[in-house]
Amino acid sequence: MYKIIDGKKIAAELRLKIKSDVSDFKKNTGRDIGLAVVLVGDNQASQIYVRNKIKACEEVGIKSFAYYMPKETSQNELNALISELALDENLHGILVQLPLPEHINSEEALKLIPESKDVDGFSANNIGNLCLNGKSLVACTPNGVMKMLEYEQINLNGKNSVVVGRSNIVGKPMAMLLLNANSTVTVCHSRTVNLKEHCLNADVIVAAVGKAKFITADMVKEGAVVIDVGMNKDENGRLCGDVDFENVKEKCSYISPVPGGVGPMTITMLMYNTYISASRSAN
Ligand code: NAP
Repeated sequence: MYKIIDGKKIAAELRLKIKSDVSDFKKNTGRDIGLAVVLVGDNQASQIYVRNKIKACEEVGIKSFAYYMPKETSQNELNALISELALDENLHGILVQLPLPEHINSEEALKLIPESKDVDGFSANNIGNLCLNGKSLVACTPNGVMKMLEYEQINLNGKNSVVVGRSNIVGKPMAMLLLNANSTVTVCHSRTVNLKEHCLNADVIVAAVGKAKFITADMVKEGAVVIDVGMNKDENGRLCGDVDFENVKEKCSYISPVPGGVGPMTITMLMYNTYISASRSAN
């Protein structure tokens, strides 16, 4: 018998807690918590993500400052804005919505975000701190996965965890978080030989591949925990994950669905990181 991990419910509960923490912060310091969101260009998906982030800020009481820049914005103009935001004491987080237009070097721009305001957790210092098990702002999606596992009290100690995908924003930090939680971690990618064997050995599978229904029932052992990070379109244009949910679920002890799984956790963890950044700056 499997249990569906309800990311929507977990995210809603977490947001209530963040809202209360934000309210306490304001009472204790007399200050607002601020998040800058920078969007360059008119990518439709990015516009939706930015809108949702601003909405989430409103929900938890964080003050958002949106900066909409035209797609012709130059590297220097973007760099100048980020450098200015970096110095603004009213801002505790800076988020530059990716992808940036092709003529902009994302790495160069993102490097200008100070580690303490890097609420996406993408900077080299924050990733380094994560590896050293130190004080870090952790990338929102993998951190959201950890909160889901924690919420369900899934014990990771000594378990075999397989992360499928090794991107800098999901797969790699995910692997590090599982390792820090004392899992034995295998990271698979497009060059992995015998992916199925690795997956069949897993107590926990985190799929972050970007391919619809990529993880099939024959790749999953009985009783495994399966977390689906993927956000893809199925043959009917509907949102679906990397896991063939309908067939895989019967083999699982826990499984997260798409939609309603990891997705709602990501923006919630952005709110969490912004609050953490503010409370660190106040101490
Ligand atoms: P990405 O940068 O494209 O990385 C995909 C990873 O999958 C790569 O490491 C790639 O291996 C690996 N891969 C591709 N084909 C494979 C195969 N046949 N076998 C094994 N591994 C394979 O993607 P991402 O940014 O990590 O995102 C992954 C998925 O998560 C996407 O669907 C994305 O939309 C979704 N996502 C969701 C959220 C959320 O909030 N729910 C947030 C972020 C991302 P190589 O490294 O060898 O190329």
